[in-house]
Amino acid sequence: MKRFKERLFEGPLSQEYTQSFEISRVVFEKKTDFQDLIIFETPAFGRVLALDGIVQVTEKDEFAYHEMLVHVPLFAHGNAARVLIIGGGDGGVLREVLRHDVESATLVELDKSVIDICRRHLPMISNGAFDDPRCHLVVANGCAFAAETDRTFDIIIVDSTDPVGPGEALFSEAFYGDCQKRLAAGGVIVTQNGVPFFQPLEVTNTYRRLKSLFADVGFYVTAVPTYVGGLMALGWASNDESLRMLPVDVLCQRFAAAGFETGYYTPQVHLGAFALPPFVTALMQ
Ligand code: SAM
Repeated sequence: MKRFKERLFEGPLSQEYTQSFEISRVVFEKKTDFQDLIIFETPAFGRVLALDGIVQVTEKDEFAYHEMLVHVPLFAHGNAARVLIIGGGDGGVLREVLRHDVESATLVELDKSVIDICRRHLPMISNGAFDDPRCHLVVANGCAFAAETDRTFDIIIVDSTDPVGPGEALFSEAFYGDCQKRLAAGGVIVTQNGVPFFQPLEVTNTYRRLKSLFADVGFYVTAVPTYVGGLMALGWASNDESLRMLPVDVLCQRFAAAGFETGYYTPQVHLGAFALPPFVTALMQ
């Protein structure tokens, strides 16, 4: 559901609050089999992808989201070989996963058009990741894949849209239960849980659903300028409680050994991200 006012794109953040982007140019627009897709150019954020009127990724601030969704679980794990990405058709999570020495990254995206159009019109987001031989692409509903596959993964990253439309099922207890079965020992699942100030129920519902399945459930935060309303919550669940309490020098060692540069992630940011303000902790019940 896109809404234009002359050269403005208005994206709702909650039912009562909307943000506007000045558009320099509409780059591509299509109604895919699943959603309304638009890519437009803006002076403030570079190229922006929106699905069903909701901003998904922007060229200028995507690193704050993708680095935290990927490097926190991968450096906490320390030896992840097989990674599963659910959603994430823009390729940003895939790009960051493949900076690690992983054996494979399986990306399960419902809407092939998102992949094709982003590769063409937002190539800087995937940056060649779809051509990496370690990338296994599956075009399918992530829920069906998690229910049917017999493979196991060290890390599962749910890079979904919000819990409306096709993304809704990726927040269900049934889906989380299937993910739990697909997680190898010592594995971690992380999820996109919106901005708690505007979307408090995303934290509460995901907390309740994960809590019944995993020994250790929590949230960590990142600050993505496009997702105004303060901090964005990322869900964390594992049966290994030690994974999110690693000493900073262990994370520093792993980060240094990986040998790549980041714009948001550091081992200190990683540990600090688990320190939650009380208004967020209060939602975990
Ligand atoms: N960072 C983003 C945000 O704003 O939350 C998410 C980006 S990513 C583009 C989200 C992707 O999830 C979309 O490409 C969408 O097609 C995909 N998706 C939604 N529901 C899905 C499902 N049930 N199975 C697999 N992929 C799904």
